[in-house]
Amino acid sequence: MPVDIRDQTRTLSRLQKLELEVRRLQAMLGKVEEQTGALNAQLQQCEDPVAAAHRQQQELQKQYRSQEAELQANQERIAKSNEKLRAVKTNKEYQSGLKEIDDLKQIGSKLEDQMIACLDEIQAGHRFLKEHQAQADHRAAQIRDELEQVRRDAHESAAHLAAAQAQAAEISRQLPAELLALYRRIRDRKPDGVAVAEVRSAVCGGCHVNIPPQMYNEMQRRDRLKNCPNCDRIIFWENEDERSE
Ligand SMILES: [Zn+2]
Repeated sequence: MPVDIRDQTRTLSRLQKLELEVRRLQAMLGKVEEQTGALNAQLQQCEDPVAAAHRQQQELQKQYRSQEAELQANQERIAKSNEKLRAVKTNKEYQSGLKEIDDLKQIGSKLEDQMIACLDEIQAGHRFLKEHQAQADHRAAQIRDELEQVRRDAHESAAHLAAAQAQAAEISRQLPAELLALYRRIRDRKPDGVAVAEVRSAVCGGCHVNIPPQMYNEMQRRDRLKNCPNCDRIIFWENEDERSE
């Protein structure tokens, strides 16, 4: 009874399909770190200016409170100096007292200017936050969702990968060792990892080159494995509708 190699080529095709899935999943998982890195960078880009504005607001408010305390102290000093002035005995003391009060008032006036400038900055900060906070929060939430999705997909892909690898190992065990070794040799030489190709209408599905007519006829007997004369892939023929005369 002639050998039918269909079982072998079908098993090889199943193995090939699984291994291609393994490759696809590995490539996908290989990109996860890059993707999450890029998303985290985007997240930072969107959150950093707002966080910096918040920090600056706190800093300015602290600065304003300290100026306020200083002004208060200054006013108390002026009041004390005024009191002292009422008790002076000589004109010289009086003049020096007036000078002291004048100096203090100048310091106070400078402080008030600084406080106004500080309030202006606080208001500008408020405006910036009012304009950007909601937008930044919204975008940050979107990016966090995307990150979550990438992580979920990666988790799922890792599970699929493990399953596909286990199945591929199982199928490999069903193949004769020599055939498996041949398959792997060809696979490892092909950049696309495809070692098995179906021939349809006398064309190799791996390299899309025509199979010589005599070889094509022989293939249809399915009694021996053949390799594509052009790309060396293991080729098989399945489609009975195309059977040559
Ligand atoms: Zn070929």
